[in-house]
Amino acid sequence: MAIGYAIAAFLFAVSVEAQVLSTRIWPARDYTRLTLESKEELQYTIFSVKDPERLVLDLETDELSPALAELNGKVTAEDPYVQGLRVARNRPGVVRLVLDLKAEIKPQIFSLPPIADYGHRLVLDIHPLVPLDPLLALLQETEKTRPAQKPGVARLATIVIDPGHGGEDPGAIGRRGSREKDITLNIARRLKKLIDAEPNMRALLTRDGDYFLPLGARVDKARAVRADLLVSIHADAFKRPNVRGSSVFALSDRRATSEMARILAKQENDSDLIGGVALKQKDDHVNRTIIDLSQTATIDYSLRLGNSVLKRLGVVNDLHKPHVEQASFAVLTAHDVPSILVETAFISNPQEERRLNDDAYQDKLARAILEGIREYIAKHPPRPVGPVTASPLPVALRNDGGGMNPFSGR
Ligand SMILES: [Zn+2]
Repeated sequence: MAIGYAIAAFLFAVSVEAQVLSTRIWPARDYTRLTLESKEELQYTIFSVKDPERLVLDLETDELSPALAELNGKVTAEDPYVQGLRVARNRPGVVRLVLDLKAEIKPQIFSLPPIADYGHRLVLDIHPLVPLDPLLALLQETEKTRPAQKPGVARLATIVIDPGHGGEDPGAIGRRGSREKDITLNIARRLKKLIDAEPNMRALLTRDGDYFLPLGARVDKARAVRADLLVSIHADAFKRPNVRGSSVFALSDRRATSEMARILAKQENDSDLIGGVALKQKDDHVNRTIIDLSQTATIDYSLRLGNSVLKRLGVVNDLHKPHVEQASFAVLTAHDVPSILVETAFISNPQEERRLNDDAYQDKLARAILEGIREYIAKHPPRPVGPVTASPLPVALRNDGGGMNPFSGR
């Protein structure tokens, strides 16, 4: 009797664990992602069918769980790649998902181990057959509406704004439930508007929607459009809720300038683990954090930009640190694009969380960042052709203190 009970409990546990507990679909121009989350790793088979284009995903699970059943009809008309999605029990032990596609696509499927609040995830990414660069397409669009040549302006400076996190990666979450990914997108959109209103600049967003973008893809986008600058927007959390203030970060070619900078860089770089990238891209990410000497010049320009932005942020918020900090942020590794990461405020601080959700305050932050960019561009106008070519700064101007640690007196 006791044994029978134990076996029954075991069987029950197996079927529950192989069950899909939640599903998410993130449609975007870059790619559409379908995530299936379960307690145990899901076993699957995938194949494509032609005429019409379909993708079939067979899951080894007994049950058409409520989460899976919910997928029926979950696809929106705006999805660029998926027309429809059908889920049904196919045969004992197998639930079949059929994705009706709008065109031939390139699927990528991979499993992710549990991390943060997530269990096991099976991720299906639907990429366009010819990898399109939506940012490049956007640039071409803006070039049509905004001619690059203006009186007295050699070339419009292209500012790539990167709203941190997105999709599977919510970023930090405040005590009242605000998600960093939403706040960063709102501030980024405001900043884009302000930049586009400037006579000598134009802005592009790495993502303009709620979906996950790997850190390397953000860097690649900035490089693809030969950006003059990249500004990554964040609002992170720290363990202690009393920690507050705005900060600006640049890449470090050595160790981080403070423990806080090191922790934040680690937190930001974990975005790829939480958001979920396939193995190949993970390797890319490791390679990216290896910095060669050619990058030092770009870092110097990043520090100049960072200082201008930090000064302006100090007008609208307390500064967490009165100088630009440096650490190994993967999103700042574009070799030839001066890049900064702006921590607008701490979402973990209740007062700052409230302000981060305030429209007028978001505008103030965006305006401060704009003013910093404006000051930098006035000093370093874009060259008439080609990408920015950086030349090294004298050591005295560098923020690493020429080997000393200028931040040790904190
Ligand atoms: Zn962040």
